[in-house]
Amino acid sequence: MTSVPLDRAARRVSDVLRDEHDPTLADCLQGWLHHSTPWIIATATGAALGARLALGKWVRTDVAPVVAIAALQPFTEWAIHTYVLHSRAVRVGPIVIDLHAAREHRRHHRDPKAFEPIFIPLADLVLALGAGIVVLPLVLPLRTALTTFTAAAAMAGVYEWTHFLIHTPYRPRHRRYRRIARGHRLHHYRNERYWMGVTSGLADRLLGTAPPRSHVAVSDTVRTVV
Ligand SMILES: [Zn+2]
Ligand SMILES: [Zn+2]
Repeated sequence: MTSVPLDRAARRVSDVLRDEHDPTLADCLQGWLHHSTPWIIATATGAALGARLALGKWVRTDVAPVVAIAALQPFTEWAIHTYVLHSRAVRVGPIVIDLHAAREHRRHHRDPKAFEPIFIPLADLVLALGAGIVVLPLVLPLRTALTTFTAAAAMAGVYEWTHFLIHTPYRPRHRRYRRIARGHRLHHYRNERYWMGVTSGLADRLLGTAPPRSHVAVSDTVRTVV
C-alpha cells in the first residue's frame, strides 16, 4: 500500500481521488484544504465563535441551537439533497428555473471522482452564509444568533469534510463511517433516489430510503440525473 502525499500540487488531489492508492487521513485533509470552501467555512465559524466568546454571558439559549442543529442534521441534509440538489428544472412561462446547486450536483453525479463538484458550490455557500449573517440577528437575540451561526457553519464543515473523504479511496476501519460511505457510494453508483444521507444514515433508515441493496434496481440515470 502506498501513501500518496497530496501537497505537491492541486493536480495531485484529483489523482488521488481517481487512483486506487491508499491515502492517509492527513493526505486527504491536505487535498480537502486545496479547495476554498473549507477555508471559508472555517473562517466564518471562527469569526462567529470569536464574536460569541467576546460577548460572554452564557445563556440557556446557547445550548438549544447547538443541540437542535446536531439532532436535525440527518434530516436537514436528507431534505436538501432530495428536494434541492435533486430538484428538476421547472418552466414558468418563458422562464426556466433550474437551481445552481442542482446543476452543480448533476455535474457531481456525472463524474463522482471529479474534485471541484464534490464541494458545496462557492456561490451557494456564500449566499447561505450571507443569509445567515443577515437573517439570524433579525430573528434571534445576538448571542443566540451567533451561537446558531457557529453551530450551523461548523456542521457545514463536518458535511463538507465527510463528503470529500467518502469520495477519496481512504477506507477507515470505523464501522459507522464505513456504513455511511457505503450508502453514499450506492447513491452514486446504484440509484440516485436512495441513500440521501451523507454524514448520517438515520434519516434514510427512518424515511425508507435505505432498503437492502438487492431491493433497489440499478438506475439508468444514476450518472445523468435530470
Ligand atoms: Zn457525492
Ligand atoms: Zn445526489
